[in-house]
Amino acid sequence: MYKPKSHNATEFIDHDEILETLAYADANKNNAELIDSILEKAELRKGLSHREASVLLACELPDRTERMYRLAEQIKKDFYGSRIVMFAPLYLSNYCVNGCVYCPYHHQNKHIARKKLSQEDIVREVTALQDMGHKRLALEAGEDPVNNPIEYILESIKGNLFDQA
Ligand code: SF4
Repeated sequence: MYKPKSHNATEFIDHDEILETLAYADANKNNAELIDSILEKAELRKGLSHREASVLLACELPDRTERMYRLAEQIKKDFYGSRIVMFAPLYLSNYCVNGCVYCPYHHQNKHIARKKLSQEDIVREVTALQDMGHKRLALEAGEDPVNNPIEYILESIKGNLFDQA
C-alpha cells in the first residue's frame, strides 16, 4: 500500500505506484488541459504531487514546455534570487548493483575498494564538513539492497545528519 508520508521505506517507495505514475505521465504527456491546470497550481508555489510532476517531466508540447521553463526560472528567482547554492557531496557507500557505464561504482568494476560508512564514520565526516564551513550536504550512495538498503540511508539521515543541524 502506497503511503507517501510514511517513514517506512517499503511504504513510500512503492513499485506499483512508480509503474502507475509512469503510465499516467505517458498517457497525459500531450494533455494540454491537464498540463495547464498543473502549471496553474505550480504558480501558487504550494507544491505538486509526484503524479503531477511526472506529467510535466513527460510533457511533449513545446509551448507548454517553454511555459514550464519560464515559470521554473521565475520560481527559482523568487526563492533564491541570483545566489548559487553549493552542496558538499557526502558518499555514504559505493556498493552498487547497477551498471551505469559512466560511473566507477558500477558493479562490474572489480578494481576499486568497496566501502560503506558506519554511523560513527558519518558523524566524523559531517563534523569535518561543518568545520570547513559547509551548510548543505548532498548524500550519495550506490543502489544495493543488501549492503546499503534504504533503511541504512534513513538511519544515516535520522541518526546523524539532523543532529548536526
Ligand atoms: S552508483 Fe549510481 S550512477 Fe553509479 S552505477 Fe550505481 S546507480 Fe549508477
